[in-house]
Amino acid sequence: MGMLPTVDAPCAVCGGGDADPVWATPDRAFAVPGHYTVVRCRGCGFLYQRPRVRDEHLAACYPDHYPRHQEPSPRVPFKGSAARRRAVRYALANGLGYHAFHDDHVSVATRLRARRVLRRLRWSCPPWIGTGRYLDVGCGSGAALAVAQALGWRITGIETDEAAAAIARRFTDELHVGDVLTAPFTSARFDVVTAFHVLEHVPDPVAVTRRMLDWLAPGGLLIVEVPNAGGLGAALFGRAWSGLELPRHLSHFTPATLELVLGKAGGRIVWCWHQAKPRSYLWSLSALLRDRGWNTLAKLTESRPVYGALKLGLEVLLPLARLARRGEAIRVGVVRNRPT
Ligand SMILES: [Zn+2]
Repeated sequence: MGMLPTVDAPCAVCGGGDADPVWATPDRAFAVPGHYTVVRCRGCGFLYQRPRVRDEHLAACYPDHYPRHQEPSPRVPFKGSAARRRAVRYALANGLGYHAFHDDHVSVATRLRARRVLRRLRWSCPPWIGTGRYLDVGCGSGAALAVAQALGWRITGIETDEAAAAIARRFTDELHVGDVLTAPFTSARFDVVTAFHVLEHVPDPVAVTRRMLDWLAPGGLLIVEVPNAGGLGAALFGRAWSGLELPRHLSHFTPATLELVLGKAGGRIVWCWHQAKPRSYLWSLSALLRDRGWNTLAKLTESRPVYGALKLGLEVLLPLARLARRGEAIRVGVVRNRPT
């Protein structure tokens, strides 16, 4: 594959043309040819790729073995022992609004277990809202759709990649294969819309967010997750940071610029969670060592025993990154602002 044609587009948030380079890297994950640069807008502080691959060539940045095509099997919540399943049902009913799972006769042990289960569960199960109409934007092969379906939601997906969408069809025929902006759904049609690691891939995150907010029924919730360019990983590793993912990630959000984008699209953040997993730090560390020419050391950190030991150490330290609100990914709940 030769170099892909690029476009020198200004800031998608404020339209400003002035920007300063921050990080530049080749494609570390899939070796798309070229060297790509992230700039910071002088007007609004937004971090974005410039120049970037032209819209009509973006698909060429995603090879057939891109992970979207082969997600692990869905993390359906109802698994494990009968006692665990009872705790899951209780956590869903009392922590996430799933009235259908309500049960008056629950032991203290189950309640205590449910409290622990809920902390993990809320990452994979959206809160129950309205009549249970769910849309996942960028649904990939359907992992989030399958979980929602198991929880009783009526599910719909949008996916640009045909191969991934073909796999998602296991779960529903309610699939739009193509762009978010061309999806035919009418306004106010869904109670929950999710977009996990989508906004950083699209040329116009404001327009995509506006569209997703328009699909929310009254009382509806949009849930967005993106890599956090304001987190500890970006600060520590700079151009070796795993979240850069050039040339595929066109935008790089901090909590502040994500709020700016969502606000411009007519939304308001109601909660913000930080996620930090060892894997992304270890990937960044290895890239950093390779950049320095320390390939032997990089290989050593990737070897099973060393990787395992580092992972264990990080498991202990990472709650601190979350507490400091400097996680690797940020997930926000967004509602539509009332028209003024
Ligand atoms: Zn700007």
